[in-house]
Amino acid sequence: MNDANESSAEFAAALLNEHYALSGRLDALPGYRDRNFLLTTGSGDRFVVKFTQGGESRRDLALQNRAMSHAAAAGLPVPVAVANAAGEDVTHVALDDTACLFRVLTFLPGAFYADAPAESHTPALWSDLGALLGKLDATLADFPPPASGASSQWDLAHGYVVCRNALHVLDDAPRRLVGGLLEHYRGHVMPHLGELPRSVIHNDANDHNLLVDDAGAPSRITGLIDFGDLMLTHTVNEIAIASAYALMGQPDPVATLTQLVAAYHGERSLVAAEVSAIDALVRLRLCTSVCNAAIASAQHPGNAYLQVSAEPALELLARLCGESPYAVECELRRACAMPTDPGRSRAAIVDARRTHLSEALSLNFREPLKIVRGEGAYLFDEHGRKYLDMVNNVCHVGHCHPRVVSAGQAQMARLNTNTRFLHDNIVDYAERLLATMPGELSVCLFVNSGSEANELAFRLARTCTGSRELLVVDGAYHGNTGACVDASPYKFDGPGGAGAPRHVHKVMLPDPYRGPFRGRGREAAAGYARDVCRVLEALAAKGRRPGAFVCESLQGVAGQIVMPEGYLQAVYPMVRDAGGVCIADEVQVGFGRVGSHMWAFETQGVIPDILTLGKPIGNGHPMAAVVTTREIAEAFVTGMEYFNTFGGNPVSCAIGAAVLDVIREEGLRENALRTGAYLMERLRGLQHDVELIGDVRGLGLFIGVELVTDRTSTAPARREAAALVEFMKSRGVILGTEGPGDNVLKIKPPMVLTRRDADLFVDALRTGLARR
Ligand code: PMP
Repeated sequence: MNDANESSAEFAAALLNEHYALSGRLDALPGYRDRNFLLTTGSGDRFVVKFTQGGESRRDLALQNRAMSHAAAAGLPVPVAVANAAGEDVTHVALDDTACLFRVLTFLPGAFYADAPAESHTPALWSDLGALLGKLDATLADFPPPASGASSQWDLAHGYVVCRNALHVLDDAPRRLVGGLLEHYRGHVMPHLGELPRSVIHNDANDHNLLVDDAGAPSRITGLIDFGDLMLTHTVNEIAIASAYALMGQPDPVATLTQLVAAYHGERSLVAAEVSAIDALVRLRLCTSVCNAAIASAQHPGNAYLQVSAEPALELLARLCGESPYAVECELRRACAMPTDPGRSRAAIVDARRTHLSEALSLNFREPLKIVRGEGAYLFDEHGRKYLDMVNNVCHVGHCHPRVVSAGQAQMARLNTNTRFLHDNIVDYAERLLATMPGELSVCLFVNSGSEANELAFRLARTCTGSRELLVVDGAYHGNTGACVDASPYKFDGPGGAGAPRHVHKVMLPDPYRGPFRGRGREAAAGYARDVCRVLEALAAKGRRPGAFVCESLQGVAGQIVMPEGYLQAVYPMVRDAGGVCIADEVQVGFGRVGSHMWAFETQGVIPDILTLGKPIGNGHPMAAVVTTREIAEAFVTGMEYFNTFGGNPVSCAIGAAVLDVIREEGLRENALRTGAYLMERLRGLQHDVELIGDVRGLGLFIGVELVTDRTSTAPARREAAALVEFMKSRGVILGTEGPGDNVLKIKPPMVLTRRDADLFVDALRTGLARR
């Protein structure tokens, strides 16, 4: 014993003798804040003798003592405070001239949980821990809360603020990790905090406060000590905090968590909101450990231990980040015998759709899926089954990206109104959007859908050229409004269509694979451009001028086609010379999807007169835009007001800005280039082995795989494509087909797709193709 311990041991011996009629050997015990001793009496009884200095008041300790007695009375293995001769279980004393509080607690046998190696922990041990904490919280449910609840950096209810304030002291990698988790917490958990029951809890069942029966082969929890963090907070924090420690070093943290939570629920029933929050709370507690350690080490730069202590938390956090929060939630719900989705069954929805919705709405798959959640590149059905989404280019930066969700939530709570008031968001957003484009495109008009963008683009063209004659690419789709259907051969030549209206003129689909001019070279481009020339000449022969040529910068619905190099470079001047303007429809392919550029028209070396944007612009929020030149915009100012109730509202613009932020900060264009190239390479490998794959084409993460029954005749393998889509669904991959023959697999996943996702996709595809 050192000198300080020796003098306090002497003082303790005197106090024990005088006030507790206890004597025996005193051995120093480690303590975080307190000075502790183990007292072993002559008859072998053991007690923990505690001097508490600073921080806690006598009232705090008396409250802890009462909570311990309350729990012990319910048969829980916790220490209890021993009363002195005067009946007090905590007294003021002066140790080395410093005021402190003195207590004697019963001793609990056992080894520290922390001393039992992670490999020795078993499901039985986790169940025992979960059950113990469940029982404790059930017992403390009616325990009167402290009169004043001092806020603590360890109260998980304040964890978000604690971590936010500490972000600046973290290194880059942990800051990104913690920052991302905080965003998720803010979007998913914060709005539901009011639904979480509150009560007094132990609040720190970490591995140094838990005792086990055997450090070599622990099977039971024999004690829970140190009620120093006792507080009134969300009850569910108890199991979340314990789990944050118990999961460290475990090979399958989700399985461990499931075991802990199920056992806890067996003793204290969790409500649905608690089960939904647990995983995020575990992550938040780990973030709190990382942040508090970083703050402490910033204050004590010499103390390397402080950083080291955060490493297991960081390591576990990184591993948990590989797990889908919703998949974990479903796992926990199942473990607590709660339904994963309280909504209607698939069959009931199909029925209700039939009764109340138009049957003109179609559904994916022979047996439609009910999808209830989205995260990143994944979707989840009502049973928590996960699907890799390979077709959703709308949720561009990932389904429900927390940054975009928060931006929308925050602005929705402040104001949403129309553009007849001044507001920063619309001009901020317009400037940011235009900054990504060539200077010629300098005026924005905001609308609500891709169709509306094209509809407005046609009006702009007509107003500025005085002609409504429209050149459209065969097979193309531009939207669902009257003018857009008129401009979409995919619709007017398809089932229920009545052919091209008089003012609409089709030009050949510049398809390097199955069109008359093959390959992506300039010769093929010239061939297809000649067809545009033919149409323009025919118009001129009738004394008519083109109003506009509308063309997607890569063909979407027409079959995921990359046009030959120089096609638009050849066509745009012809259209302009004939008096028309050029509209680039980038409703599908904009915002960095092509990888090499932000805008797909850049890959063709042109600048359109009018650009239409939609789908990815709001990551699923209904917004869209038309961007044009000053000249065309000015021609549209005719005296007729242009008013759009929703277009350009503050919420949409906040969301649009968040999407641009995420694209840049997460390097998603670069990811589209990298992961797209990798995916193409793997698909080409597959094409080498599988006759059915006639063509693999694409730019970035916009890819088409064309299936043909015979490579020479290129006959579309429609049936095979449909069967493959169904097979992929059974493998947890959402895929669809495109093109006039419905034989092109459309690949345009959220831009967060990883190499691992690409591998999963191609491996499943290979299996599907081999089964035929
Ligand atoms: N243009 C293109 C190229 C499209 O693919 C679509 C929709 N698939 C639209 C316009 C219409 O967009 P929205 O459905 O948002 O009206």
